[in-house]
Amino acid sequence: MSQSTLTDLASQIAAGDIHIVDLTHTLDPDFPVIILPPEFGQCARFRMEEISAYDHRGPAWKWHNITLSEHTGTHFDAPSHWISGRDVPNNSVDEIAPEMFVGPVCVIDCSVDAAKDDDFELTPEVIQDWETKHGKIPKGAWVLMRTDWSKKSGAAYLNMREDGPHSPGPTPDGIRFLIDKREIRGFGTETIGTDAGQGSHYTPPYPAHYFLHGAGKYGLQCLANLDQLPPTGAILMAAPLKIRNGTGSPLRVLAMVSGENA
Ligand code: MN
Repeated sequence: MSQSTLTDLASQIAAGDIHIVDLTHTLDPDFPVIILPPEFGQCARFRMEEISAYDHRGPAWKWHNITLSEHTGTHFDAPSHWISGRDVPNNSVDEIAPEMFVGPVCVIDCSVDAAKDDDFELTPEVIQDWETKHGKIPKGAWVLMRTDWSKKSGAAYLNMREDGPHSPGPTPDGIRFLIDKREIRGFGTETIGTDAGQGSHYTPPYPAHYFLHGAGKYGLQCLANLDQLPPTGAILMAAPLKIRNGTGSPLRVLAMVSGENA
């Protein structure tokens, strides 16, 4: 790559010809976290306490202590998050090579279907239908499932019913198609997990987690603003915190989108 590629990139960002889309929700205590059946351990919400605020505790400075789960808010799932990825090399957030965090992104728009069906499934047929319009998903792509679920808040976001949460996600065949046939980098959603709300009922349970992490792929969830991305052509940057042996982390997910797509 010539030096001018990076110089051109910087000037196009400065000129607004390439713009940066923030795919991240604001971390605040009200943002929902996943709720597992009561016999399991639970994920903590975000909490923030003031250390000082230009006062007797620190006259010239303001700062906070924060507490949260690795899997709170917009966050990254590493292979070590799932039992299938337990023995994958470099499977924790601190071990993943930084090159893996940046790549092309394909956005599969399922928002119309998800508006009609809370349990809408991403199947190989849905993916291949998208490919007839937008081209084959390139090897090493981030693939995001757009559902506009990020526009929901409060109870509607988890959408809990008596039989558990209801939200869209991939079928076992759908996620395996992306991994085995398209060799994706990772898979992201606007919902609380990479799996459907009813994902525990598939074989295997939670197939996105099971197959992605078993294959050394990454997950992103609680994404926002996917409606601001083109179907193809953007670059995604998703670098988790470097937590030793971390299974995931909240992060700022950014996409670079060129002017003709903006
Ligand atoms: Mn997670």
